[in-house]
Amino acid sequence: MRIILLGPPGAGKGTQAVQIAETAGIPHISTGDILRANVKAGTELGQRAKGYMDAGDLVPDEVIIGMVGDRLDEDDAKAGFLFDGFPRTVPQAEALERLLAERQEPLDVVLRLAVPQDEVVRRLTGRRTCAGCGRIFHLVFDPPAEEGRCDDCGGELTQRDDDTEDVVLNRLEVYRTQTEPLENFYWERGLLRDVEAVGDVEEVQERIQAILRNFR
Ligand code: AMP
Repeated sequence: MRIILLGPPGAGKGTQAVQIAETAGIPHISTGDILRANVKAGTELGQRAKGYMDAGDLVPDEVIIGMVGDRLDEDDAKAGFLFDGFPRTVPQAEALERLLAERQEPLDVVLRLAVPQDEVVRRLTGRRTCAGCGRIFHLVFDPPAEEGRCDDCGGELTQRDDDTEDVVLNRLEVYRTQTEPLENFYWERGLLRDVEAVGDVEEVQERIQAILRNFR
């Protein structure tokens, strides 16, 4: 299956993506995760991306498109993919369409996770990520058993640099102006399906699986 997860920051894309990818047996490709790994490793790509990421702005399209093209060339992507955080602009979506047309591998579905804005701000400012294994917690909705420590691996829980309130507000504005037009882009192509992304993680996952069952 070839799936895109669309939705504002804090809609739960990363949390839901892990389970969707596992169930479908496809790689979870998060452009944000790839960029953060590059920042951490101090690569040239990471150095180029860091300033944009810290401000909550988008990394330039040509950087992202090149990165995704390389990722799609890897073997595991032959089985399909789940994109999380990509595409984020109309030029990115057009570039993806060209890449997939060349490969004769059309998209199956674009899932849009819908959440009210005030909920998104609450979710993001309370989000904590394990520095060891990457598991996502929330101070209020999904706290760890021991403060500051991961339940799974005992790693330290950290806050993403771009999850502070002022940067979160900019990321939401960037979503509204640059990414929201993609909803119409995919709706016109008959690919968009809406998922109400409020409630328990499991409830939202069940809504997603109910949609995906139509494509298996
Ligand atoms: P995310 O983890 O998806 O919230 O992404 C974190 C940050 O990485 C974003 O705020 C952007 O600065 C950058 N980023 C991730 N994916 C993209 C993309 N597809 N296009 C441009 N910038 C991106």
